[in-house]
Amino acid sequence: MSNKQILIRGACVLTMDPRIGDFDRADLMIDGRHIAEVAPHIDAPGAEIIEANSMIVIPGLVNTHHHMWQGSIRNVAIDYTIGEYFAKFMSAIAPRFTPEDVYAGDLMSALEGLNAGVTTFLDWCHVTNTPEHADEAIRALKESGARAIYAYGPPLGRGVREWFYQSGLPHPEDARRVRREHFASEDQLVTFALALRGPDFTQPEVNQHDFTMARDLAAPITMHIGAQGGAPDGVLKLQRAGLLGSDINHVHVTISSDEEMRLIADSGGTVSVTPIAEMMMGVGAPVTGRLLKAGVRPGLGIDTITGSSGDMFSQMRSALAMERMTEASTVWAAGGSYQSVGLTARRVLELATIDGARTLWLDSKIGSLTPGKEADVVILRADDLNMAPVTSVASAVSAVVMNADTSNVDSVFVAGSPIKRGGRMLADLDRVRKLAAESYTRLFGANN
Ligand SMILES: [Zn+2]
Repeated sequence: MSNKQILIRGACVLTMDPRIGDFDRADLMIDGRHIAEVAPHIDAPGAEIIEANSMIVIPGLVNTHHHMWQGSIRNVAIDYTIGEYFAKFMSAIAPRFTPEDVYAGDLMSALEGLNAGVTTFLDWCHVTNTPEHADEAIRALKESGARAIYAYGPPLGRGVREWFYQSGLPHPEDARRVRREHFASEDQLVTFALALRGPDFTQPEVNQHDFTMARDLAAPITMHIGAQGGAPDGVLKLQRAGLLGSDINHVHVTISSDEEMRLIADSGGTVSVTPIAEMMMGVGAPVTGRLLKAGVRPGLGIDTITGSSGDMFSQMRSALAMERMTEASTVWAAGGSYQSVGLTARRVLELATIDGARTLWLDSKIGSLTPGKEADVVILRADDLNMAPVTSVASAVSAVVMNADTSNVDSVFVAGSPIKRGGRMLADLDRVRKLAAESYTRLFGANN
């Protein structure tokens, strides 16, 4: 493990920790794996210095829901509804994925995200057609240097209909092997969860079986629930079956009732909102504001690169724009005029950082630039033309949420390890480009 000290000097620092506050100008010290100190001035003889006078420092962004195996097949479903996505892609193309395709897709997704300041991912992997598919996804995640939760999902080899339409097939037993072989320790960058189909997609006895397996393995659960294309009342069904808990990450909940959202809040469960995919594919209107009112602090996610953008800046903007539209429409429908906003830019940055970390049960480790937490740190160039002028914490928050894109990401650290420095990724990008291109051609043919 590295004991190296790195001092980021003179930056605008958005810690996202209200006890520490934010700084128009401060130094941040990374000591080995952890954040050692954030203060107006830090003396650090012997530390490597990063001069950051025209930079903004934020916690690494957290992508709480992503099917990372799809990284090589970007945009193939951009004009599909969720129904067409299942019929034309998940049924027709996904069963053909080989372990090599999964490796290429996961590696591409991880490196794309890291390049864009995403340091943590939940990989909802539902292409586990053979044990090797799982092994290759995990290998890619570990090699990428990202922090990730590998969520072992169902296979597609026997077809989507068999696995997702009130399925009578239980979750694969191979999950037990993967837990044992790859995730003996919790103290590693890549950890384990089960990506379950849940009550919307399985018969009740199968759902019960799958939950029993997850809790037997002490694995957190993540599931799509309460979305268009699924089934209604999923959260209520879980409650009636006595299955709700703080170990469940609920994804979408776009058609869930307010009562169901309160049930999630009371259970300590978490929610992922994936704004662009939800709006692009007809999964439902993102419910950020309704969740906040119900007492749930959601995280944001990308969901599927086949029909969404792969960076979290776009997701933040989309969540904010959708919520403002909802707020204003509600006021207009009541005959009023929209006088003040509810959801703020700063609150959305929290969703993408500390609330994302909480959504993935990682907030004691990451999500804010709190001394003692692991050093998942992103440095953005604030003097780029799409960002400047940044003169204060307030203008920095606005710039990050409304203006930033991947090109502004100067440096990225995960647990203190450098991933990107001076605008350049340290990984071999030509290799992943080649792997992704080969995978795409294998799946779609040379002329598509
Ligand atoms: Zn999804």
